[in-house]
Amino acid sequence: MSAETDGSFFHPGADMHPVQFKKLNDSEIFIKWDDGSEFTLSMKYLRDRCPCASCAGESVLWREYKPTTLPVLTPGKYNLKSAEIVGNYAIALTWVDGHNTGIYAFDHLKKICAEYGKAAAAIEDSQKK
Ligand SMILES: [Zn+2]
Repeated sequence: MSAETDGSFFHPGADMHPVQFKKLNDSEIFIKWDDGSEFTLSMKYLRDRCPCASCAGESVLWREYKPTTLPVLTPGKYNLKSAEIVGNYAIALTWVDGHNTGIYAFDHLKKICAEYGKAAAAIEDSQKK
């Protein structure tokens, strides 16, 4: 067993863990981290950032490839069904439409939280129009 294989599962920032992950209502989830930070996140925002190969594209083989996004709304697409901790580094989300291949590494999830915090004001503005 080499040091390289030992270390390969550690993501930078994965020393941070969610201590709470719950549905607030039909469109939002609440995440609390062990550093004490708290985020209310839109499920739509989270689903749109699903890191699985079919949503995010196969970044290893097709560096620039992104699947064509069609304006089709699958019923339940933005409704979270369940969440499960994977190992000690990620959370696997299952959506009401049956999609369950999105595994959100904690560092990725934390990044989404931070981005959403910044984007929230802009989203609110656009929804008022
Ligand atoms: Zn996905």
